[in-house]
Amino acid sequence: MGESLLILCYLLASVSFIVGLKMLSDPARARKGNRLAAGGMTLAIAGTIFLYRDDHQQSLHNYPWIFAGIVFGTFVGVLAARRVKMTAMPEMVSLFNGMGGACAMLISLVEFLFIYKAPDLQRYPQPGNPGGQLDMDLSAGRLLIILGGLIIGSVSFAGSLIAWAKLNGKIKDVLFKGQHLLNLLVLAVILGLSAWFLHSTPGYPSDLSAGPIGSSSLYLLLLILALSLIYGVFFVFPIGGADMPVVISLLNSFTGVAAACGGFLYNNKAMLTGGILVGAAGTLLTILMCRAMNRSLKNVLIGSFGQHTVSSGLAAEHGAYKEISLTDAAMVMSYARRIMIVPGYGLAVAQAQHACHELELILTEKGVDVKYAIHPVAGRMPGHMNVLLAEADVPYENLLEMEKANEEFPGTDVVLVLGANDVVNPAAKSDPASPIYGMPILDVELARTCIVNKRSMKPGYAGIENALFFQPKTSMLFGDAKKVLENLIHEIKNG
Ligand code: NDP
Repeated sequence: MGESLLILCYLLASVSFIVGLKMLSDPARARKGNRLAAGGMTLAIAGTIFLYRDDHQQSLHNYPWIFAGIVFGTFVGVLAARRVKMTAMPEMVSLFNGMGGACAMLISLVEFLFIYKAPDLQRYPQPGNPGGQLDMDLSAGRLLIILGGLIIGSVSFAGSLIAWAKLNGKIKDVLFKGQHLLNLLVLAVILGLSAWFLHSTPGYPSDLSAGPIGSSSLYLLLLILALSLIYGVFFVFPIGGADMPVVISLLNSFTGVAAACGGFLYNNKAMLTGGILVGAAGTLLTILMCRAMNRSLKNVLIGSFGQHTVSSGLAAEHGAYKEISLTDAAMVMSYARRIMIVPGYGLAVAQAQHACHELELILTEKGVDVKYAIHPVAGRMPGHMNVLLAEADVPYENLLEMEKANEEFPGTDVVLVLGANDVVNPAAKSDPASPIYGMPILDVELARTCIVNKRSMKPGYAGIENALFFQPKTSMLFGDAKKVLENLIHEIKNG
């Protein structure tokens, strides 16, 4: 009865993950989808705690530890999610992703230690276990899964921590000569040691006569763990510019696969489904991001690191940039027929999404056709701009994807770039030495006029100058996006 109930819990949880994930693709139902999947996860956890019985009909023990962990984790999670600023969301997502990787890594480690510490009991003829049948199936497959969860989980954990530190500016891209060769070497050593571990650990393939697991297998596993953590750090260190979003979604898929390994180990269907869904969604997102960035995964991972040169002296090359006053900007926009707003990371920093929507409404009332051009990697996390604008109730149909927006720029009177930089940088098309070279951009220079709002001439995430700011069609409107938008609204209302 208890077992059937537990299977039902897992089934309901799995269905809730799938339906919840589907609902996340629609901004109007995303919140409900998130709650549904969280409800499913709660059900799976509660079911495991109260209904699980092992082969000897024993329930879980260590309840104080389990509940202390749940209370502590819930407290930290709720506090972090409530306190986090919208601009720090990408970092938090990276950190949470890293925690998932760490869990998978620890599960693998604990599972191995469990088998390692109880070999005689589990593996050799015992009263009540005359054939020496393994209580737990220490087969080649099981060891492989332990190893897979350990390696992938620790790479994801260490890599996500580095991504977190890079996203919040705590560390910069670390580049040195021969870096990707070193990375490949570390990876090759990890794979070599893994093969050795699988070959030398008794139980592979189910070799009961080989004796208990020796300490050399344990040390080998710990060495693989340490190297995987190092690999995670080195693998994300050099990645910068346009490649960061791809790596973030790749790390996401790693965590999913590592969690699925845990699901296999515990024969836990809910964990398996959850892991597979995260792994598959992360992989699809990685593929989509690669396509959007016009990069192959190989190129991102072992591409042209260390060869970036930062172009400088654009002012000398293109002349000075020109500024536009608020009044003039308001007038140009009031008389336009079609305006395209290009939101970027700065809009999120300024928390100017509501002011932006208000400007859109006022212009629309005046008969101006206002749309938004959304670049797939604008901001600091996939879908950042969509989430930001949805929060301000900007209708989804007003958001144009990059390809569609690029078709519409030639018929656009004014482009208003709000806190975007890299995603409108023509160097992506013209400068092979640029770290964003090859990334498709929003072709804002095809419009009649371009007004760029940012606070200074400082570069964006990729750390490079932007020739767009010096083009004759472009005018700079300096200031914090929220303040500038509020003033524009005031000018247009009273103009
Ligand atoms: P950028 O980081 O290129 O530029 C943002 C600009 O906003 C800056 O130049 C900054 O200039 C300006 N800004 C900052 N604060 C304000 C403010 N309060 N008001 C007005 N302007 C402000 O952003 P983009 O969105 O154009 O490009 C995203 C970049 O991030 C890409 O390089 C992408 O690869 C990378 N990335 C994206 C991820 C994703 O998943 N989307 C993940 C990781 C990285 P100033 O300081 O002068 O104001």
